[in-house]
Amino acid sequence: MRLIIRRLLITFFLMLIGLIAVILYRAATISPPDIDVEVAEITPVDSAKVIDRFSRGLQFPTVSPQDPEDFEPEVFRSFISFLEEEYTLMHERLEREIINDYSLLFTWEGTEPDKDPVLLIGHYDVVPVEPQTEGDWTYPAWEGTVAEGFLWGRGAIDDKSGVFSILEATERLLDEGYQPERTIMFGFGHDEEIGGLEGARRIAQTLQERDIQLKYLVDEGMPIAEQIMEGIDSPVAMLGVAEKGYLSLRLRARQEGGHSSMPPNETSISILSDAISNIRQNPMDGEFSDLLRQTFRPITPELPFAERLVLSNIWLFSGLIESQFSNIPYINAALRTTFVPTIFDSGIKENVIPASASAIINFRIHPMDDVEKVKNHVRDKVNDDRVVIEEMPRARNPSPVTDIESGQYDLMAQSVQEVFEDMPVAPIFFLAATDSRHFHDITDHVFRFRPIRATPADRTRIHGTDERIGVNNYLEMIQFQIRLIKNST
Ligand SMILES: [Zn+2]
Repeated sequence: MRLIIRRLLITFFLMLIGLIAVILYRAATISPPDIDVEVAEITPVDSAKVIDRFSRGLQFPTVSPQDPEDFEPEVFRSFISFLEEEYTLMHERLEREIINDYSLLFTWEGTEPDKDPVLLIGHYDVVPVEPQTEGDWTYPAWEGTVAEGFLWGRGAIDDKSGVFSILEATERLLDEGYQPERTIMFGFGHDEEIGGLEGARRIAQTLQERDIQLKYLVDEGMPIAEQIMEGIDSPVAMLGVAEKGYLSLRLRARQEGGHSSMPPNETSISILSDAISNIRQNPMDGEFSDLLRQTFRPITPELPFAERLVLSNIWLFSGLIESQFSNIPYINAALRTTFVPTIFDSGIKENVIPASASAIINFRIHPMDDVEKVKNHVRDKVNDDRVVIEEMPRARNPSPVTDIESGQYDLMAQSVQEVFEDMPVAPIFFLAATDSRHFHDITDHVFRFRPIRATPADRTRIHGTDERIGVNNYLEMIQFQIRLIKNST
């Protein structure tokens, strides 16, 4: 008997040692995906000229206001005229269509027009500057100031740098007589910040009516992330290959009201609170998906040993990783469908029990779920007939996930690395929404990416105060667009 136990113990220890050896080996040998891209020669551009043009472009307050009454058509028209005056080659040699009065569609016909075209899109509308914050800007929001190595102003990041870098790249290539093999199209929307229904969606409909299928589409989205994690020095180009869906549900509980001196056991408010608490205690399942594995793959070798040990052995530690990451809001948002109550409404007087209580809960739907699945989950967890659940307008399913094994993904990565030497490229979910969602019927290959260098501290500048982009970074963006166009053969 003792002999058997001894043998079992020895076997167990040998297995344990073997397991530890495997874990350590994987941590020690994990390597980033091969980068075998040579840096491309820089295409010289007239820096002073392109910076001045961008600065002037930032001076147009092309604001998408919350209230359509406040829309200022003449600003948008004069912006379009400004582009006509500045980008003369583009307007001479490409076909330009004005879609729905203010959005623009350019077509640069290739020498092989039978090939599926590429579409690069962006939006030139911007969010307003909150009136009380105007004085907080280091340089005024609408002057396009060039100072301290940056271009300052509303739209400097989102998304005029995208639009202008595309315009500059095209104008530059036309100037040298370049002609693409494959037809390249450019779409610039005028209402992305309020949903893109009048701009990008109309551009997409126009292309669909012409039976156009795209080879791929590039829109704004994820940046080049700097200082993403402690221990990672290298910036990482984050290619957004999917975006989350959107849903708001109104939960309403009704129960007899009355005088607050004789409260019943349950009231509309308590019923509603229980419902929300049930949802809170039962979040939707998270998943350390294949895509998230791919996200971490290029950066894992650079991590400190403990983190590297865990992330290079996801097969063993996925539970641990999920529970740790669930506490970090932006990673949790990439793991699962998230939800948060955003509006509460009940009661009119302090001594009256309200007969009705309602709350709106906002969901951001992970690509592994959809609107129906979320609604069923909520119904199931609330499990109370006294709570009526109602879907609010503007729900949409998550986008499809772009295949990262495709040639299109490689082409994006190559274009990045030709400009940014040896920079790791990682696929990732985009957590907000872009105009690209209107184009899913005409392409399976959508990338949401701008090569904008962004640190975590820069996050508040987007839609916030002191929006700015590095002057050199803007020049890099132009080079990237040039590479992208040239590689789209
Ligand atoms: Zn934007």
